Amino acid sequence: MTKLLSPVLADYGEHHVAFWCPGCHCSHVLSVSGPGAIWGWDRNVDRPTFTPSVLFRSGHHIPSEAGKRCWCDANRERVAEGKEPYGFSCGVCHSFVTDGRVQFLGDCTHHLAGQTVDLPEYPQCRG
Ligand SMILES: [Zn+2]
Ligand SMILES: [Zn+2]
Repeated sequence: MTKLLSPVLADYGEHHVAFWCPGCHCSHVLSVSGPGAIWGWDRNVDRPTFTPSVLFRSGHHIPSEAGKRCWCDANRERVAEGKEPYGFSCGVCHSFVTDGRVQFLGDCTHHLAGQTVDLPEYPQCRG
């Protein structure tokens, strides 16, 4: 069960918070305090600002994973077998989260590249 700090921000323990990314359709967890902190956070839970920019890479977009087997290979094999691709893919998500809005930069691989949107409500598990 996810503990929410506000409609848009989830509590991921002592040093982490998460927001729901409408580009990736998944949560991005940020380390904002403690010795491993990467991002600054203004402690605003309703309209948060994180600095510097938020960059997430997956699959072959991770420099150390380049050239290794990735989701592209797995999905290509699935399609070759006549099946639906997996619900995962390799990607880049790069944004500035400022005052409760997400400004996606042009190097994102998803459909919101270059757009600015409000942080969506964090989906809460029911039941
Ligand atoms: Zn994202
Ligand atoms: Zn890939």
